[in-house]
Order: sequence, then structure tokens, then C-alpha cells
Amino acid sequence: MLVIGNGKIITRDVACPFIEDGAVAVEGKLIKEVGDTSVLRAKYPHAEYIDAHGRLVMPGFINTHMHYYSTFARGMNLGGKPATTFGEVLSGLWWRLDKQLTLEDVYYSCIGPMIDEIRSGVTSVIDHHASPFAVEGSLFKIAETAKLFGIRSNLCYETSDRDGEQIAAAGIKENIDFAKYCKEQNDDMIGSLFGMHAQMTIGGKTMNKCVEAASAAGIGFHVHAAEGIEDVIDAVSKYGLRVIERLHKYGVLSEKSIAVHCIHITEEEMDMLKESGVAVVHNPQSNMGNAVGVSPALDMLKKGVLVGMGTDGYAADVLESFKTAAILHKHARAIPSVAWAEPPAMLFENNKKIMERFIKGKVGTLAKDHYADIIIVDYKGPTPVNANTINSHILFGITGRHVDTTIINGKIIMQDRMLLNIDEEALMAKSRELAQKLWDRI
Ligand SMILES: [Zn+2]
Repeated sequence: MLVIGNGKIITRDVACPFIEDGAVAVEGKLIKEVGDTSVLRAKYPHAEYIDAHGRLVMPGFINTHMHYYSTFARGMNLGGKPATTFGEVLSGLWWRLDKQLTLEDVYYSCIGPMIDEIRSGVTSVIDHHASPFAVEGSLFKIAETAKLFGIRSNLCYETSDRDGEQIAAAGIKENIDFAKYCKEQNDDMIGSLFGMHAQMTIGGKTMNKCVEAASAAGIGFHVHAAEGIEDVIDAVSKYGLRVIERLHKYGVLSEKSIAVHCIHITEEEMDMLKESGVAVVHNPQSNMGNAVGVSPALDMLKKGVLVGMGTDGYAADVLESFKTAAILHKHARAIPSVAWAEPPAMLFENNKKIMERFIKGKVGTLAKDHYADIIIVDYKGPTPVNANTINSHILFGITGRHVDTTIINGKIIMQDRMLLNIDEEALMAKSRELAQKLWDRI
């Protein structure tokens, strides 16, 4: 039994959004009770006690689209002409990097971002992985690191025809092998989706195989959709369909699936997304970095599409996406009154709903019977902090680096900014060594 008390509790629970001097009682993996500090301390006198010292206590953050494998690109200089289109970003950077990844690289690519996640209070992550010359076992390697750090994870391998039929088949097999493993584990700490890169790198034959395999395994898809205009040109020129239309035709879009980005889509495609019940993930920083255009995230939300927020590997700290989303849409529309309510809706409400589609339990709220994924944020604020002002404090004051303590599934992973039972120095040194080796052979 654990009680975190003497904190300002931001619950994200509409029934009781804020407690000024509050506590959260945890039993095993779950939150047992949320209430006043004095009440819970008296009720559970023998519980281990963490004093929040008047700081903020909140649910851990959820990132619904991540790429751990992108880590070794940080600082990498491939020389040559810089990419001038999104297609060149893919072929000149990511598809050169991912071909070099070994299973050991896959493992160590996770180290840096997972440490950053814990340090920035991210407790649940949905990842999308690629390592075309080390496909078999790659998801199991990521699962190993996720287990080491105790991060709630959902993984998939991005099946694609871009490296030939054999590697596409290996991608399908890896998704299925991993889905079986997750089913056996029957633990909400690890889950799976069927990964596909994007429709533009998947022909009809492979698409059919993916749909067949995923449906037999009973899982949905995690796929990039209409991220760059290249995806639209491909779909229209080869198949006479728009991106969402083609994915819909194959039955890829449903409540079990995630369609990432959805930037270059029509009104009709938006309706198709809504009707299918598929979740969409908006990645504002990555979109700006790749110069792929502005997502119609605000329009999709207005239509009732479930739009969440991810980092797309651009950062591990999902608050960076939150801050970027808030200003990107104001800037793009040249209207300062827009995009106030939507970023909090995407990050705090919709990411929770998306994650909960893939687990049996509940996350993202400090309330009874939810998983005890809890963070303490070392921030008191120059103006009053409460349920009405918290999102403004997150936008203008709080960063991931304010997170002091991270608890996942009832387990203390970081306390007072120290990662417990993790040899951070040794793991990061190995990561740097492997990154240098990869840069040398690329
Ligand atoms: Zn992505």
C-alpha cells in the first residue's frame, strides 16, 4: 500500500477534478482511493508514504504515436543535399537509418527515449517500429526495454513492400508472433497492434495479407495515413482512390485501429474516419519539422473524430507536442482564439480513450480502480493552480522536466528525479557507442 499525500491533486476526473490538499492511495497496480490527505493518512496509517510537499500530483501522460527506432538519428550527419520534400526525408534519412538497425541497436534505441519518458512523466506509449534487416524478434527487444523501465506499451512492426516481398512477409510474421505473445502475457503493461508503414508502400497483395493476418489475430492496425502529399499522389495514381478511401476499402479503419496524421484528406474522408470509429493521432512538431502541412485536427475534432496526440519520435516529452499544437493552429489560421480547448482534449481526454481501447483496465485519470500511473510535478506556479487553470500552467509554465516522481502500474520508477534500479550511465554509454558504430557504417 502506498499513499502520495500533501499534494495539489489534478485528477482529470470530471466528478472531482481538483483537491487542494489531497492524496492518492494505491494498492498493487490500482488506485484505491483519492481524497483529502488527512483522511487517507488516517485511513491507511501503515502505508508507505510519499510527501508531495504541496507540488502537483497528476495522471501520467500518454503518447499515442512514437518511434523509438528514430533515436540514433539524433546528431547524425549523412552529408549530401538536405531533403527538400517529405519523400526525400523518408528515402534520404529514415529508410537509410532503419536498414542499418540490428536487434541490439533496436534495444539501445529505446534507452534514451524511455529514460526521457520517465523523466517527463510519460507512462503509456504506443510505438511504431521499423528495422527491415532485423525484423524477427525486434518487437520483443522493445518489449524487453519497456519491461526494464516499466513503461506501459503497445508495439507494432511497420509492414511495408519497400524492401521486397520477403521483408514484408517478415513484418507480418513479427506482428503476429508479438500479438500472440501479448495475448499470452495477458497484462495491460504490454499490448500490440498490426503495424503498416503507409498505404503508399503497401501493394494490394501485401495489404490483403496484412488484413487477413490481423483479423485472424483479432487486432487492429497502426498505420501512417496521408502524412505527405506523396501518399495521396500514390493512392490516386495507382488505385484511383484517396488514401483514406483505399484504407477503408481494405477494412483497415475501425475502432480497433489508429490512423496517424491524416493531413491531406477531404471532407468525405473525414466523414469516413468518423463513421469507421478509427482513432487519429495528431503529431504537430513532427508535421512542422517535415513541412508536410497542417493537419485538419480541429476540423476532425469538430466532426467527432477521436483525435489524440503523439510525438512521432520527434521528442519523448509529449508536452512539447501539446505546446506546439496550441500555437501551430493559431498561427496557421491566423486566428488567436482557436486551439485552446483542443490540445487538452487531445492529450488528456482522447489519448486516454485511445489507450483504453487496447487495454482491459483504465488509465489517464486519478480515480478509483484506474491503473496507478501517477506523476508528481515540481511546480507551484506564480498564479493560482487548480482544475480551471492547470491547462494554462501546462501551456506556459510546466515542462516535462518539472516531473519529479513517476509511478507506473503502482511501481515507483523515478523518485526525486532519480531512476530507481536503473544504471542510466552504463545504458546511455552503450547507446552512444552503438549509435557511433551505426553512423560509421551507414
Ligand atoms: Zn510516425
